[in-house]
Amino acid sequence: MNRRQIVAGNWKMNMTLEEGTTLASSIIEKLKPSQTSVILCPPYIHLHSLSTLISGISNLSLGAQNCHFEKSGAFTGEVSAAMVKSTGATYVILGHSERREYFHETESMLAKKVNAVLSQGISPIFCCGEKLESREAGTQEEVVRTQLEGGLFHLDAEAFSKVVIAYEPVWAIGTGKTASKEQAQEMHHFIRQLISHRYNSELANLTTILYGGSCNPGNAHELFSQPDVDGGLIGGASLKADDFIAIINSFPKSE
Ligand code: PEP
Repeated sequence: MNRRQIVAGNWKMNMTLEEGTTLASSIIEKLKPSQTSVILCPPYIHLHSLSTLISGISNLSLGAQNCHFEKSGAFTGEVSAAMVKSTGATYVILGHSERREYFHETESMLAKKVNAVLSQGISPIFCCGEKLESREAGTQEEVVRTQLEGGLFHLDAEAFSKVVIAYEPVWAIGTGKTASKEQAQEMHHFIRQLISHRYNSELANLTTILYGGSCNPGNAHELFSQPDVDGGLIGGASLKADDFIAIINSFPKSE
């Protein structure tokens, strides 16, 4: 397989400065060199200090959990893509379902955020995924198609090649209810087909698509063994160094 394997940890709104440094240090201590790229996505306050802590570790990077789409200005409490980049972070999670739900992020806002991130030469980790009612109604593919068309498919192929996608069924996030390996594979394959139709099959085959939703050391291996699942976006389990490391070591070829 010629696409990148990634495990990204979304710390959400957890960890004081001291706790975050302890967690990151413990992850660094246990992390083995491998071809899996590991991305820590802590709250903004950690980015600069963790950037110093991880320097020199080739498979470890940092990402923010959000950013604003404007370059600067009177947006109290917001952080721009340039500010994120200035900390040393190289990724930004965009369109997480919690941001869509609690902060009313729309596809058009997300498209602007994607542009802002890419304009800084850093990469979006673009989240998509259906709610339970859509899964039950069988409309999950339509939902994901709309999200990708609205947030990403305005990009040209060159810009799109910098994007990482995370499929995160909302009903699986933080619920302990994971998508089955078949459900994950089916949606990842569908997403790859959409990319192939919009761009081309080469780009589709090179795009890293992560699964997110109650991924843990007990289910990561079967999920990461699916042909179209290239790793995970991990919430709760990324806050425990041993669990996060076990997930990182769950790719079939690392056995
Ligand atoms: C997430 O927040 O992106 C996530 C996947 O959370 P959890 O692993 O806790 O379900």
